[in-house]
Amino acid sequence: MTSPDTPRVVKCPTCGAAVEWGPQSPHRPFCSERCRLIDLGAWAADEYRVAGETPLDDQSDPLRPPPH
Ligand SMILES: [Zn+2]
Repeated sequence: MTSPDTPRVVKCPTCGAAVEWGPQSPHRPFCSERCRLIDLGAWAADEYRVAGETPLDDQSDPLRPPPH
């Protein structure tokens, strides 16, 4: 038996946070626009690697947080 009052919740693919599947979560399945952009960036980085261009200079990666 289904309960219509129970909101469907998915996990943000980027950070794993619970995201309600509804109009209140415009970035679903991501919890926020930031996580959505991070995921897109990961895809872009994968394509970059697949292209055969091995980035030797890791510091040029804008997605990589700077070392403390
Ligand atoms: Zn997230």
